[in-house]
Amino acid sequence: MTPAFVVFFGPPGCGKGTQAKRVAAELGLVQISTGELFRQHLSNQTPLGLQAQEYMSRGALVPDEITIGMVRERLAEPDVSKGAIFDGFPRTRAQAQALDNLLQELGAQLNLVVDFVLPLEVSRQRLMGRQEGRPDDRPEVIEKRLSDHAQVEASVMPYYRERPGLVKSVDANRTIDAIYQDVLALLKPLIS
Ligand code: AMP
Repeated sequence: MTPAFVVFFGPPGCGKGTQAKRVAAELGLVQISTGELFRQHLSNQTPLGLQAQEYMSRGALVPDEITIGMVRERLAEPDVSKGAIFDGFPRTRAQAQALDNLLQELGAQLNLVVDFVLPLEVSRQRLMGRQEGRPDDRPEVIEKRLSDHAQVEASVMPYYRERPGLVKSVDANRTIDAIYQDVLALLKPLIS
């Protein structure tokens, strides 16, 4: 069986993490959220977590080398055998290129990029209302993350849009269930 690898792309607050968890559980894939991996490293006080902390607390990107190394390690774990959904990764063109190389080393490839489309104002409202108490959900950090996302989109999406049929858009300004149905329909054909 060929594993399926998918990138979920979209602004903070678009719901891609929620969708990634649900779809991954349904299809037997793993969710690889670099934000969550960094937060786990931090709560375990690992050297990598402590290195990442200074960037995360001010809403800056963690350097590519650290981020790519962490993804490489995660991909080496046995639960990735059916494939993975990447959430919050890649965020730079170098990360996108590194992901292609990592997948190639596994004898696999990126099968799909789901682009979660959400108006900026809706994204902002959702982040302001989020009650998870994350240190980077403070208003001044939210504005930085939103503007950074535009930069991330400009670096990553042209790289993927060059490949015909790879990117599929989903309207993320709807209910969780409506979005879920669309996302599931996009991923199901990849699972043999
Ligand atoms: P997230 O939960 O995806 O919003 O990520 C939280 C924070 O973790 C980000 O603001 C960054 O500091 C860091 N981070 C997560 N993913 C990446 C990535 N792919 N590249 C660099 N930094 C990241």
